[in-house]
Amino acid sequence: MDFTFDSYGRLLAIIQEQGYKIADYYNWESFDRCVILRHDIDNSLDKALEFARFEWEKGVKSTYFVLVTGDFYNIFSRHNRKVIRDIIDLGHEIGLHFDQTVYGELALDTHTIREKILCEAEQLKTVTEKNVNIVSMHRPSRQILEGDLQIPGMTNSYGRLFFKEFKYISDSRRNWREPVESILTSGEYRRLQILTHSFWYYDEEKDLHDTVKSFICGANRERYDNYKNNFTDLESVLGLNEICG
Ligand SMILES: [Zn+2]
Repeated sequence: MDFTFDSYGRLLAIIQEQGYKIADYYNWESFDRCVILRHDIDNSLDKALEFARFEWEKGVKSTYFVLVTGDFYNIFSRHNRKVIRDIIDLGHEIGLHFDQTVYGELALDTHTIREKILCEAEQLKTVTEKNVNIVSMHRPSRQILEGDLQIPGMTNSYGRLFFKEFKYISDSRRNWREPVESILTSGEYRRLQILTHSFWYYDEEKDLHDTVKSFICGANRERYDNYKNNFTDLESVLGLNEICG
């Protein structure tokens, strides 16, 4: 499948045609055959909102996992607070996307990982204004994938249940390692967790190179606009045409 909104729409249609219910991390047990849709937001909350709107148009609810510690977006900014709340208003759930590597190179002990997750979930809650009950790991370590980490009051989407008992498929690095559509049409699995990254999807198909390039080059414009909001008469110092060719 290619990485366009249309293709994702087709994927949603296949899920439903094959008799799967689109479930979430709370209600999946009510369905004999179900798919949980999950999105990890590694780079861009704006792209996630675009995706959230698309799913809303299709009548689908899913879970968006937000990084509190990433370098690409700040969840506490005025703009991003609104984006996160807009995603919630579209009916989606917000979970925590947790990157344990920000706490150092050494593997953390389980107790510390748990503590950090609960602490970040509290921070995210100040933006969502509702409890953050689900966590996914950013580039999970073997320790996490094999450890079945339990966190009091929270669901771990990489715990044994959702990672081993559900069929887990992901488009990480813009690459479906397994053919998601035929896995669904085969009907082989009763329960699936499908991870997509909204960052890869556009109206028109772009390859990996162009997708990454437009994100990196587009940052100039974003940074210019942010600076303009904080620096009177920026144009007299540096013209927009000088940075966006
Ligand atoms: Zn991630």
